[in-house]
Amino acid sequence: MIPTLITLIIGAIGLAAWVLLDDPPPRPLDLPNKPFPDNWRELLQKRWPLYNALPEVLQHQLEQLTLVFLDRIEFQGVDLEITDEMRVLTAAQACLLLLNQDTFYSPQLRSVVIHPRAYTATSYDEAGGEAMEKQIAVQGQSWGSGSVVLSWDNTRTGAANAKDGRNLALHEFAHQLDQADGKADGAPALGSREQYQRWQKVCSRVFADLRDKVERGNKTVIDDYGATNPAEFFAVATETFFEKPHQLNKRRPELYALLSEYYRVNPLSWP
Ligand SMILES: [Zn+2]
Repeated sequence: MIPTLITLIIGAIGLAAWVLLDDPPPRPLDLPNKPFPDNWRELLQKRWPLYNALPEVLQHQLEQLTLVFLDRIEFQGVDLEITDEMRVLTAAQACLLLLNQDTFYSPQLRSVVIHPRAYTATSYDEAGGEAMEKQIAVQGQSWGSGSVVLSWDNTRTGAANAKDGRNLALHEFAHQLDQADGKADGAPALGSREQYQRWQKVCSRVFADLRDKVERGNKTVIDDYGATNPAEFFAVATETFFEKPHQLNKRRPELYALLSEYYRVNPLSWP
């Protein structure tokens, strides 16, 4: 979830719990080799600078993944009519996380729901040991039960500025990768027990340091919101990895290397 207010009060949070479990290998994905409509390509070129920065071979792969996404995932609009721009820009950003993976999102993911702008959602706050339900304004949500909900305003502006470390679609779809094993614990499916151990070691350390810096009011390359819990840490770190690779690599090379290995791309090499 991304609340609209970044300055959230960070309540009592338990220790980072990146769970060490082996997951079944995901199903391999056969990419089609279908023509990608020229007007969709122009749309990506105009609306998403990161697309233009990708090497040609990755642009082609992303386009094919986008076609798979649009074939498999249903789009629903709330108080708006879904347009090609919404479908293509959302799908392509979601598929950036799948480059070189040879897999797709969990078969549980069925739909993307788009609101015109930030909307109201119910939040459960357990600060102080008592569960409290409250209504908050959010930009997006990712549900393990099969849908991602997005504010179109923020999906569009997240794409338009590819250098600010904020990208709603990347954030919510990173949650999908994390949730694919049924747990939103900050660890997506990894290949081996050794990888889980390294993931836990690196993420726990950077997360603890981020929380410390945020509590002190220090500036951080990873947005404050990543200090909320391990799941938000992974989602925000993903935004930083793709949109501020140089800063992340400079400040947190061990996290950059971990994410580069996981996502199988090196955004440092993209202009
Ligand atoms: Zn989130």
